[in-house]
Amino acid sequence: MSAKEINEIKAIAGSYNLENYDQVKDTFEWEDAAKELSYFQTGKVNAAYETIDRHVEEGYGDKIALHYINGDERKSLTFNEVKHQTDHYAQVLKDHGVQKGDRVFVFLPKTPACYISILAVIKIGAIAGPLFEAFMEEAVKDRINDCKGTVLITDKELVKRVPQKDIPSLETILFAEEIDALPQAPAKESLVEWVDLEDGLIIHYTSGSTGKPKGVLHAHRSMIHHIISGKWVLDIQEDDVYWCTSHPGWVTGSVYGLFAPWLNRATIVIQGGRFKAENWYQLIAELKVTTWYSAPTAFRMLLSQGEIFKEYDLSSLRHILSVGEPLNPEVIHWAWNNLGLRIHDTWWMTETGGHLIVNLPNEKIKPGSMGRPFPGITVGILDSEGNELPRGSVGQLAIRAPWPGLMKEIWGNKDKFNSYFLYEGWYISGDLALQDEEGYVFFQGRSDDMINSAGERIGPFEVESKLIEHPAVSEAGVVGKPDPIRGEIVKAFITLRTGFVESEALLEEIRLFVRKNLSAHAAPREIEVVDELPKTKISGKILRRKLKEQELQKLHA
Ligand code: ATP
Ligand code: MG
Repeated sequence: MSAKEINEIKAIAGSYNLENYDQVKDTFEWEDAAKELSYFQTGKVNAAYETIDRHVEEGYGDKIALHYINGDERKSLTFNEVKHQTDHYAQVLKDHGVQKGDRVFVFLPKTPACYISILAVIKIGAIAGPLFEAFMEEAVKDRINDCKGTVLITDKELVKRVPQKDIPSLETILFAEEIDALPQAPAKESLVEWVDLEDGLIIHYTSGSTGKPKGVLHAHRSMIHHIISGKWVLDIQEDDVYWCTSHPGWVTGSVYGLFAPWLNRATIVIQGGRFKAENWYQLIAELKVTTWYSAPTAFRMLLSQGEIFKEYDLSSLRHILSVGEPLNPEVIHWAWNNLGLRIHDTWWMTETGGHLIVNLPNEKIKPGSMGRPFPGITVGILDSEGNELPRGSVGQLAIRAPWPGLMKEIWGNKDKFNSYFLYEGWYISGDLALQDEEGYVFFQGRSDDMINSAGERIGPFEVESKLIEHPAVSEAGVVGKPDPIRGEIVKAFITLRTGFVESEALLEEIRLFVRKNLSAHAAPREIEVVDELPKTKISGKILRRKLKEQELQKLHA
């Protein structure tokens, strides 16, 4: 496509610049966002082309595409270099016979090679299956077997956790170190496989908070969702240095760590190594990160480290976002008081392929709320028959289907897929929420987590948030414990902050604190102090299901 044609498209697309939410929310059409992609011109698309090659063609080849930082190691690559390396990987995959639609898994630490491998797979029309680097044998095996992956790109270290003999579909294992060392053949013809919007792009397994992870297949059309939410929610600007802390093995790490920022031509940060507050702050200061997307569990860890952030120059930051779990108001207040910035919560799921409920940069934030529906998205709060409830009532959080990012299928499980669409025209999230008069949506828990005590429905999140406002409480997980009279009682598991010692008096004080500041019926009747709360591996979500299981086991022991 010529620069002139591209500018023409941009001119049309420019008409939907986000000035304010109320202005666009009723007029925005997804079709407008599609105009940013080459698909709009040609009817054919490829996500790897749109994220990298296109910027090179448009004259941005020398712009920094990524900064990589791991301990003392530093590396930066331009869009030219990322394109070049992606072509190299893509050629190697082709030489190994990879075909359109094949599932190619990528099991690599958070390094440039991980991002480049994913793009190379997509470039030749295959489906990328990124795996989180901390997965052990079982997790790796289950996922590759589930969708019959034929090729795996990994490294000499992680391959030790690949039980090859238990994965019969796996024909080829490629090592990133070896691909890097191969001589790079001069590009012959373009390696881009032009595909349809409905063709498979990436398969992500859910976090497993509520059971066995599901293989969620996304199509190339999700890019329409990625590009526009990157522009509006991440608010990507030309000079941004954007850091998403999630690994591409999770949907946040691919959609908002790779696709959305690169579709919008941002410079991204790839950070290797484990979480350490000092390193995170140091990274922001050194690379002058402007935009930072992370998760409540990480923010809570930073918060619990006290004031060390004062030793770093964090003045480059202008926009912070959060996803994955309820964002406790306490955390919002901490960032506001200490960093001078509001954290913008976003709500979406692996299955939804992109943001659905968001806080746009210039809109009012209500702590405790996840924000408002993204333009083009309609939220419904439904009762158990699928009828819409009036504003202010708690019910099933549902979204009018479809939208561009919505999953294409759950791999090999039609019944599971259909279970999201029980009520005509709606996608059911499995979360409970209420929506206020102004359209703000408040998370109340997962459907399975809701506590029913003496006829009152109590969402665990509100109780947890109140608990951690108490100075002694570091983290909290709240569940319903079966009770012969009340049906269930509210039981809280808490961890204490350093310096606090468990005592009857302290627990009573915490209980009264919730009673006084939240409500009598939601105050935990039982509080148990634990060393740590069970969480999903690394995505770090509190596993209420585990807490509840433990309670049930104790009761029946
Ligand atoms: P599984 O589906 O395997 O049980 P999971 O639901 O945790 O795992 P994800 O798709 O990673 O897998 O997470 C989506 C879920 O995360 C949402 O359904 C919701 O419960 C929670 N979530 C995401 N963002 C937010 C948010 N901003 N506030 C509250 N909860 C959130
Ligand atoms: Mg889920």
